[in-house]
Amino acid sequence: MRGLMMDTPLMITSLIRHAAQYHGDTEIVSRTVEGPIHRYGYRDAFARISKLANALTGLGIEQDDRIATLAWNGYRHFELYYAISGIGAVCHTINPRLARDQIVYIVNHARDQYIFVDLTFVPLLETVAAQFTSVKGFVVLTDREHMPDTRLANAICYEELIAGEPTVFDWPDLDETQAASLCYTSGTTGNPKGVLYSHRSTILHALATNGADVFGFTSRDSVLPVVPMFHVNAWGIPYTCPISGAKIVFPGPGYDGKSLYELFDTEKVTAAAGVPTIWMSLLEYLRETGKKLPYLERTVIGGAAVPRSMIEEFQNDYNVRVSHAWGMTEMSPVGTTGKLKGSMENLSEQEKYDYRVKQGRVIYGVEMEVVNDEGSRRPRDGKAFGELLVRGPWVASSYYNDERGTAASFTEDGWLRTGDVSTLDADGFMQIVDRSKDLIKSGGEWISSIDLENIAVSHPDVLEAAVIGIAHPKWGERPLLIVVPREAGKLSKDAMLAYLAPSVAKISVPDDVVFVDELPHTATGKVYKMGLREKYCGHILPTE
Ligand code: AMP
Repeated sequence: MRGLMMDTPLMITSLIRHAAQYHGDTEIVSRTVEGPIHRYGYRDAFARISKLANALTGLGIEQDDRIATLAWNGYRHFELYYAISGIGAVCHTINPRLARDQIVYIVNHARDQYIFVDLTFVPLLETVAAQFTSVKGFVVLTDREHMPDTRLANAICYEELIAGEPTVFDWPDLDETQAASLCYTSGTTGNPKGVLYSHRSTILHALATNGADVFGFTSRDSVLPVVPMFHVNAWGIPYTCPISGAKIVFPGPGYDGKSLYELFDTEKVTAAAGVPTIWMSLLEYLRETGKKLPYLERTVIGGAAVPRSMIEEFQNDYNVRVSHAWGMTEMSPVGTTGKLKGSMENLSEQEKYDYRVKQGRVIYGVEMEVVNDEGSRRPRDGKAFGELLVRGPWVASSYYNDERGTAASFTEDGWLRTGDVSTLDADGFMQIVDRSKDLIKSGGEWISSIDLENIAVSHPDVLEAAVIGIAHPKWGERPLLIVVPREAGKLSKDAMLAYLAPSVAKISVPDDVVFVDELPHTATGKVYKMGLREKYCGHILPTE
C-alpha cells in the first residue's frame, strides 16, 4: 500500500522562496570585489534572482545547459546559484585556483555555455578563453561603472543584463532528480572529475546538515562561510541558511585575517565554516593584535585535519567551540561533524579533546563502513583501520561523463571508495589515519603522516608541517618531516625531533627534518603531497 502524502518535489527554489517570504528582512551581507560592503534582505535577493532567471531565459539558456561561475563568495554568486538551478540549468562552479589547463579542460568537458566571472578573474579568463569550445559569452559580475576594458568576446555587464527584467518569474516544475549544480574535484592526479548534484540531493543535504548536532543554524545566527562557493557549494551553506532564515555574511575576496576579523566584528558573526589554513591566518592576526571574538560561538573546520592545538586555542583563548568535520566533493560534501554526545559530558577535558580531534561523528543519512584490502568489514572499535566506504542520498553514484573515474572509485555493490584510511567507533566517531596514498609503510608497520603533522604544528615555532614517506633501503619507507617555521633559524632539527619523540611510537619519529619557506597547496587548500614527494624523491636520509 502506498502512503497518501503529497508527492512534493524537493526543489532548490523552495529554499529561497521560504526565506523571502518569512525572513524577508534578514540580511545577506557581502564584501564586494569593487570594495564597499553590500547588504540586502532575502526578499530583495529573491526579486533579483527572479530578474536573473528572466535574463538567463532571454539569453536562450535552456534546461540542462551548463552555466559556469568563476567568482568569490558574494551576493551575485548567490543569485546565480538560485537562478541557474531554478530554471532547470546546471550551475557549474569553477575553482579559480586550478591550473589554467585544468580550467580549460573542465569548461570544455562540461560544455559550458556562458561564464559569469568576478572582476578579479577576468584577466585569468582572457588568457584561456581562445581554447574554449562551447562558450557563447561572458558576463562580468559588476555594474557599468566598473566594467573592465576586456579582451573577452561578447562580455556583458551583469547589472545591465538584469536591469530591465521583471521581479517575478514563472519557475518551472522540475523533477527533483534534475541536475542542479556541478563541481569538479581537484584530484592530485589526472584531470578533475565532475560531481553532478541534483535538486533532491542538495535539499536533503541542506536539511541534514542543519540538524542541531551538525551546523545547527537558527534565525538568530549570523553565519560566515569562509569556505568558498567555488568548492563544493561552500559546504551547502548558501542552501542551509535560508531554511532557518540565518543571516549570511559573504567575505568576497577578503580571506586575510584582518578582513575576516572586520566582518566577524561588524556583522556580529556567531557561526562560521572553513578549512584549517584560513583559521591559521585569523588566529595569527588575533595573536598579533590582541583582539578577541566576542560574538563567535562556534565554527566548523574541515577539508583537512584540524590540529588539536587549533581546537584548544579557539576554546581556551576565544571561547569558540570547534566542530571538526569531514567530507568530500563527492558527498555534497558533509559526512561527519564533531559535536560530542551528551553521554560524553562527564569525560575529562583531555578525553573530550581526544574525541574532538577526530574527524567527527557520522550524520544521519550517510552510511559508513571501514574495510580491509579484501573488502571485509572491520570492527567499529575506534582502533581497526582500513579504507572508508560511504553511501547515501547526497553521495555521488558516478562521475559526470567519466567512465575512467567511475570504475576506480565505486565498489560493485554501490559504495563510494573515499581513498581515506580511517577508524570508526561504536558512537559513529570517525578518525582519518591518512589518505591511502599518504600512509607510510616502514618495516611492515603503518605510520600516519597526519598524526605526525598534528603534533609538529602544535610546537609554538611551527607554522605548517607536512610528512611524506621517503624510500629507504632497509625499511621500505621512512618519514621525512618538512616544516615551515614561524621564524627562520630559530628552530633546530634536534629540537623538533625531541619535541615529537615523547608523543609518538619510536618507529614513527621522522628520520630527517627539512625547513622551508612555504609548502605547496592544491586548489582546495590541501598540502600538495604528490608535489612534495616528487621534489624530495632523491632526498638522502641520514639513516641510510
Ligand atoms: P575535497 O573533495 O577536495 O573536498 O577533498 C576531500 C578529501 O579531503 C577527503 O577525502 C579527505 O582526504 C580530505 N579531508 C576532508 N576533511 C578532512 C578532515 N577533517 N581531516 C582530514 N582530511 C580531510
